Amino acid sequence: MDQQIRIEFSKIRGEARKLGQLKHCFYYKDSECHKQIIQAHSIQENGRLSLIESDVNGCKTLYSFNEIISDDENSPFNSLTVGKAKASTFTGFCKTHDALFFSKIEGKNPYDKSSEHNFLHSYRSYAYSFHLFVTTLLSITGSEERLNNYIKRSGIQSLDLQMHELENHARIRSRLNTILENKTYDDLSYFVYTKKGKYLVAASTVVMPNFSISGKSMFNSALEAIPMMFTALPDKNESFVILTALKEHEMGCLFIEELKKLPSVQVERVLSSLLIQNNGNTFLSPVLWKALGKVGRRNLLEDLNKFKMLYAFNRKAIKGFIMNRINFYNKIFSGEYLNI
Ligand SMILES: [Zn+2]
Repeated sequence: MDQQIRIEFSKIRGEARKLGQLKHCFYYKDSECHKQIIQAHSIQENGRLSLIESDVNGCKTLYSFNEIISDDENSPFNSLTVGKAKASTFTGFCKTHDALFFSKIEGKNPYDKSSEHNFLHSYRSYAYSFHLFVTTLLSITGSEERLNNYIKRSGIQSLDLQMHELENHARIRSRLNTILENKTYDDLSYFVYTKKGKYLVAASTVVMPNFSISGKSMFNSALEAIPMMFTALPDKNESFVILTALKEHEMGCLFIEELKKLPSVQVERVLSSLLIQNNGNTFLSPVLWKALGKVGRRNLLEDLNKFKMLYAFNRKAIKGFIMNRINFYNKIFSGEYLNI
């Protein structure tokens, strides 16, 4: 992918977000919504993100995967740093439902590993990704001609496919809301990985790998990719990751089953690879960024850029599950080791 297309891609994505600032509650009963749509947190604000922030040029900050596009080794992330408040918020819940649903996993409530907690974290991760997808799509349809030209030139998915994808998202949204309402949290399959110590990455996103770990295609018979919900949260004494698939999404469940059979180092590498390849709503501590070293940082940027482009323009070129080079859960990247 040449530099020009990269820059244009980045620009259009940025513009799309601004144009399509969607304010809508993810819950599906509008009549019960508060009229105020708030800046909801996709990741618990005070408890989690502040644990991994650190000073960069005198400002407490985090690094975000969302906007990385630069190959410039001298200024990676420089224009992309975000403070925590802006970092993880989205206008995807009304005041009533944000408070009602997430109070159990906010504030001082510790993660209790229950299906309810696993579900609520996953529900929020999905809501964030749904919001981003719709926001982008809205702005694409708002300036169709320009985008159509771009689609033609770059080989990005056609608008029809995007609309089809939207239908799928809408179905999953309604399914998750029904589960929330009926408290049938076991309609999802969960993989939970916990590790003693504070690890310096946080994420609330959806991942859609092309292949399972053993190399089975993750697309269903209608050639749709299976979304899994991914939440990674640091904590003082124990960090955790929740990977979730709807039980009717067989391939998602299979991915989770494969993961359960792996030794923990392999699990960590798979989880890190999912984050790098998906590069969604993911945040790193600047302390971890520094600890990666020059080569590690270059490898990470290379991988992020490579997969961003492959997923956007050429998904079919990905053959098999690819392990990336960095394990964010390696002991040498723990808070204890890095003194944060
Ligand atoms: Zn609402």
